[in-house]
Amino acid sequence: MKFVRFEAHGETAYGSVEGEMVRQMTASPFEEYQVTDHAHPLSHVKLLAPVMPRKIVAIGLNYKSHLGDRKPPEVPEPFFKTSSSVIAPEEHIVIPKEAIEGSLNVQEEAELTVVIGRGCKRATKADALSYVLGYTCGNDVSARPWQSNDLQWWRGKSSDTFAPLGPYIVTDLDPSNLRISARINGRTVQDATTADLIHDVPSIIEFVSRAMTLEPGDVIMTGTPGQPEDIHPGDSVEIEIEGVGVLRNPVRAEQPA
Ligand code: MG
Repeated sequence: MKFVRFEAHGETAYGSVEGEMVRQMTASPFEEYQVTDHAHPLSHVKLLAPVMPRKIVAIGLNYKSHLGDRKPPEVPEPFFKTSSSVIAPEEHIVIPKEAIEGSLNVQEEAELTVVIGRGCKRATKADALSYVLGYTCGNDVSARPWQSNDLQWWRGKSSDTFAPLGPYIVTDLDPSNLRISARINGRTVQDATTADLIHDVPSIIEFVSRAMTLEPGDVIMTGTPGQPEDIHPGDSVEIEIEGVGVLRNPVRAEQPA
């Protein structure tokens, strides 16, 4: 199935995408729900972020092509992004004033993003995927000097608008070999496959859930391949994952207060 969260006629709901139509659901896919006959053309609804996660676990250094001379980590390297940084498809990524003034560069990071469907603690590699509802596209937007110079990655990774998610949550997808790419203004800057993940999705879920209960709606961003590039006001950034779709966000400068 392909789930969307959307707004239509002032109402927010989940829906199931069938072709060019969205059929409204009675509840979220994390609850008991029914798909109703109340349908909207996909082009007439405003897509929202497909989930508002309580926590976003993101994995660093998880593709060899992204590591440069750094050694591959022996275990997954999680960090957190805040749910306050989540934005929907087509919403603007906002470049902070410091970047506009020239002391900062901001980059996109294309990431296969796992949406947890059922709570789990101490999942095993063998049963890990049974806790997954589906997959979406994520952009782990990153302000590099803040990421390298601050003790924590709090603003480098979680400044407002730094976690675009969407457009859909797609179920019944094998995450082990999906093409993943990023385009800036239509030019491909990242292009890889999730077969190149150093720590695959089951290994990440096993590792994270040893310490922390993963709850329905939590998301895991699994890391980015290759070499992201700087993004600037006026750019259009697209993250595409095979079988999931395209997450597009325009970019603008922070407005003066
Ligand atoms: Mg990342």
